[in-house]
Amino acid sequence: MCYHGQLPILDCQYLPAAVPNCDLHCHSTCSDGLLSAPEVARRAAANGVDMLALTDHDALDGLPGARAAANDVGMAFVNGVEISIEWEALQIHILGFAFDLGDQTLNAGLASVRSGRIERARQMSAALEKVGIGGAFDGAMRHAANPNLISRSHFGRYLVEAGVCKDLRSVFESYLVPGRPGYVDHRWATLADSVRWILGAGGVAAVAHPGRYKLSRADMRRFLAEFKDLGGQAIEVMSGSHTPELVDTYARLAREYAFLASRGSDFHGPGESYVDLGKLAPLPDGLKPVWETF
Ligand code: AMP
Ligand code: MN
Ligand code: MN
Ligand code: MN
Repeated sequence: MCYHGQLPILDCQYLPAAVPNCDLHCHSTCSDGLLSAPEVARRAAANGVDMLALTDHDALDGLPGARAAANDVGMAFVNGVEISIEWEALQIHILGFAFDLGDQTLNAGLASVRSGRIERARQMSAALEKVGIGGAFDGAMRHAANPNLISRSHFGRYLVEAGVCKDLRSVFESYLVPGRPGYVDHRWATLADSVRWILGAGGVAAVAHPGRYKLSRADMRRFLAEFKDLGGQAIEVMSGSHTPELVDTYARLAREYAFLASRGSDFHGPGESYVDLGKLAPLPDGLKPVWETF
């Protein structure tokens, strides 16, 4: 049994032989993961993954190295990205799969999303300073292999290292989230931008971990309808962030809205993520896997 926080989730057994082990959500040091992109690919293959998408936040730099490592071990590889957007003042993540890496509009769009991160980090550090936590900008930056992708995860790692919190989970309960010290509102891409960039580059757009957003049921339906209208094709049903109840809920919504279904661990690193690469349960029955369209 695996645990997400205190909630028992997903059996982490290997899949039945007939079901390909596809993991379409994970991070490398190009954003806020702990392993390099090739290391992520090699670990996925060692864990029995048949098809991997690396989905760093707002960045594509890890994809060539991950693809080369995947080729070396004979694992299928799909270009991926996780775009930070805001929808009605909420930070939401949209996954893109199987797009053209060289697409100029997508690359320019992602550069625009990245550009505000360092300034936001300075503001986050100033906000933490106000509650007596010093040195957060430099401390977080020490954890960021790619400074342009400085994220709340790097601040979280600094807060753990500095002894402010015992682990990342408690960081995101007491800091860095709306209403708590260290949170800074930020202008991300719009939903329409993100879907347009992904589709324009020949890719497939999917809502990442829909169960994680603080949306009422009615607002979630409004969000999904808008996503679908814009051309969004998939939602992540099986996710490292979903309890079994959330898997059921989003399996139902995927059927209702005729969305393709995705499966992704959201692995960030050993010892930090609850679910390792490829160690999720299979998609529930009656869903059309997004990877069948690649
Ligand atoms: P940012 O893109 O800088 O806003 O940082 C968001 C990242 O923080 C996410 O991609 C996660 O890696 C991490 N994160 C957010 N919420 C949590 C949480 N509750 N527990 C662990 N990590 C989280
Ligand atoms: Mn992350
Ligand atoms: Mn995410
Ligand atoms: Mn992610």
